[in-house]
Amino acid sequence: MSGDSDIARAPSPFDVERVRADFPILSTTVHGKPLVYLDNAASTQKPRQVLDSMRRFYESDYANVHRGLYQLSVRATEAFEAARCKVGRFVGAESCGEIVFTSGTTTAINLVAHGYGGDHLGPGDEIVLTEMEHHSNIVPWQMLAGRTGAELRIVPIADDGSLRMDEYERLLGPRTRMVCVAHTSNALGTRNPMRRIIDAAHACGAIVVVDGAQGVPHEKIDVRELDCDFFAFSGHKMFGPTGIGALYGKAELLEKTGPFLGGGEMIHSVTFDETTYKDPPHRFEAGTPDITGAVGLGAAVDYLEQIGMDRVEAYERDLLDYGTRLLEEIPRLTLVGTAAEKCGILSFVIDGVHPHDLGTVLDMEGVAVRAGHHCAQPVMDHFGLAATARASLALYNTREDLDVLAASIPKAIELLG
Ligand code: PLP
Repeated sequence: MSGDSDIARAPSPFDVERVRADFPILSTTVHGKPLVYLDNAASTQKPRQVLDSMRRFYESDYANVHRGLYQLSVRATEAFEAARCKVGRFVGAESCGEIVFTSGTTTAINLVAHGYGGDHLGPGDEIVLTEMEHHSNIVPWQMLAGRTGAELRIVPIADDGSLRMDEYERLLGPRTRMVCVAHTSNALGTRNPMRRIIDAAHACGAIVVVDGAQGVPHEKIDVRELDCDFFAFSGHKMFGPTGIGALYGKAELLEKTGPFLGGGEMIHSVTFDETTYKDPPHRFEAGTPDITGAVGLGAAVDYLEQIGMDRVEAYERDLLDYGTRLLEEIPRLTLVGTAAEKCGILSFVIDGVHPHDLGTVLDMEGVAVRAGHHCAQPVMDHFGLAATARASLALYNTREDLDVLAASIPKAIELLG
């Protein structure tokens, strides 16, 4: 069901050409040029192993879950729940029940804000966020603050894109109830010192919600080692399908979290007078879930485990160093986000060239990069920018991809500026 035979041929030791062969889209062309896909922070491409697992599931095991007493529904339910356990094991959860399937990071954070924050926060309570958050780790907390009278406290960033830890520690206090922070910034690439952040929050009795969207695809995550309370991530950024993601929550905190969406499958019983809810994680999975998406996410986890996250991290670190050196040599180009601890994100601006125009010209060369505010407008405000261009790396990128990027930028500058 999970494509084990395909996965068994995954590379050892890390062999990028073999990895690339697993991703059919990487051998396609754009505007007649070989595709150089460098928008992985937005979404990653999918390996055959994930695509095959979903096709196989639809062809031979598909039915709705947790409902039918018939064979097929039992098999589908087993596959869905097996995927939950795989995802849980991958991020180091203590039990499968600590993983809630959601449609992605955004829904996972909204679930915590609504279901936990709504019941536990009141006027004067403080929620600490950072200036580097993605909008999906800002807006739900703003909405919660509006409903409850809680207040937001914002940790600033330094000009290299690192978090001002001195300011963070200063902002924590007896009213701090929640700390909501990105594991890794999607706009700058900064990897935050999570253990230090979490320990300091716990020392003042706060709950920590980690936006792990840009962490899980690039390094080994162990939620128990981090000791975070909630951890949210998206399947589509880790080589799985769109429409599925997960929220990890410590069992005792999920217990204290109220339902987010109401409907079928999340209840024990319903009368017009009273409804009682299931235990976590099913309490948070109202309606028919993305069953095949979960199976695909399980296959993505198998794929990554087969390669080994330590090797992924080491490989991408080397690529980042290489790409940084190349871009630093380009006249008029300034990197935005140069913290010492970074993942494979190269955000940059070019004097006199609008990032959107640059993105369009790079596309003509087959190079897919993002241009915009990256759903992190406070980051742009910090640097006094409206937008940056962003090349973001994944395990299938190569030094040659970065050579093409670096060779295309001066051509674009000549054309545009
Ligand atoms: N958080 C971060 C750091 C992200 O990079 C993203 C997506 O770019 C999100 C949250 C939102 O993820 P999704 O759109 O999958 O819910």
